[in-house]
Amino acid sequence: MKNLVVQKYGGSSVSDQTSIEKVAERVIASARAGKKVVVVVSAMGKSTDSLIELAKKINPDPSEREMDMLVSTGEQVSSSLLAMAIHKRGLEALSFTGPQVGIITDTYHTQAKILKIEAKRIKKQLKKGKIVIVAGFQGVSTALEITTLGRGGSDLSAVALAVSLEAKICEIYTDVEGIYTADPRKVKDAKKLPFITFDEMLELASSGAQVMHTRAIEVAKKFNLGLHVRSSFSKKEGTIIMEKPPLIEEAIVRGVTLTEDEAKITICDVPDRPGIAAFVFDKLAKSGVNIDMIVQNVSRKKMTDISFTAGAKNIKKTITKTKEVAKEIGAGNVISNKNIAKISVVGIGMRSHSGVAARCFSALAKNKINIDMISTSEISISCLVKKESGLKALKILHKEFELGQKKKRGKK
Ligand code: ADP
Ligand code: ASP
Ligand code: MG
Repeated sequence: MKNLVVQKYGGSSVSDQTSIEKVAERVIASARAGKKVVVVVSAMGKSTDSLIELAKKINPDPSEREMDMLVSTGEQVSSSLLAMAIHKRGLEALSFTGPQVGIITDTYHTQAKILKIEAKRIKKQLKKGKIVIVAGFQGVSTALEITTLGRGGSDLSAVALAVSLEAKICEIYTDVEGIYTADPRKVKDAKKLPFITFDEMLELASSGAQVMHTRAIEVAKKFNLGLHVRSSFSKKEGTIIMEKPPLIEEAIVRGVTLTEDEAKITICDVPDRPGIAAFVFDKLAKSGVNIDMIVQNVSRKKMTDISFTAGAKNIKKTITKTKEVAKEIGAGNVISNKNIAKISVVGIGMRSHSGVAARCFSALAKNKINIDMISTSEISISCLVKKESGLKALKILHKEFELGQKKKRGKK
């Protein structure tokens, strides 16, 4: 659709009355500039967290269907309030839930995937000159149940809507000014990047940079939809995420991330014979356990240890499933360790430069940080370290690859 912009506002951008009114003004400014506007909103502030906490107080193991019924309400609140704020300023706007605008998903509660969007209803309202506001993070499954798209999923709602409405660009408004070389809340001299490629952003997101939802980037890449990540509190240009940025600074490493929400699990004394690893990880995958890094130790006397990392949030379920699998294959104990952090170094420059891994390991070694596990991809290197060394390791690698803001001359 011509002249269309899809704008997504995250939780901190709609956290209270004042910020909702500010968003309304921003949306109206785009409408007055002659644009057709589709707005996707997240739930107010940390309200999704509060709903999850409340649910767990009532039932520590709530059903996923009911969780979706509950958490999807957060976005309904912010979307209707934003519509009211726009009405007060004299413009026409309509808020909708995901199901109302035909966001159809599969049936995986709390982690649903969008199958298609029947955007007729939105198009009709846009043609009538209305501002359309869509509650992010949600859809309706093929079984007619309300589903949610995974934490941070409003990014995905926005990108999928932009693709389906054929917008040229999708704007992601958040509480930082764009994508930085590291989380600016953790590394003070992190630098804002004017551009980043889809591949690098995908790797940063999947290594734990929460600023963008991983699947949102996957969809944007697939359909070559440019994203503009920017602050909802300032007018400054943010970061453009695209396939081939026009002028991208030569850099081997584009950014570093730290994630502390994984746990390490070790299956001891695994019989060392062909097919065992396939069996273990197939079983775990089928029971919904998402594995990240894997290490198999050198075999001693036909026995080996297999370690892997998985999300710390569902650790109980993961341990139970791993114990079942260990028993089936006649392995020994299953040990878990939550005291870990993962740091990742990401950059497409690694494709053409060797020695990045060595540089990474020796920077950590010089600072006496022990590496527990390593995994690499074509454009990233990840190391597992003790949780208490995580932040230090992040800062060391940020400095090692000279990612920080250059100090102004004359200043120390
Ligand atoms: P929203 O509520 O707008 O979706 P999120 O909290 O999901 O916002 O994401 C924004 C946060 O992501 C920032 O506040 C920042 O702390 C964090 N973040 C992590 N890594 C990065 C990075 N490389 N660049 C920018 N922000 C990052
Ligand atoms: N409100 C949801 C969450 O907190 C979705 C989102 O913010 O994108 O995860
Ligand atoms: Mg987010």
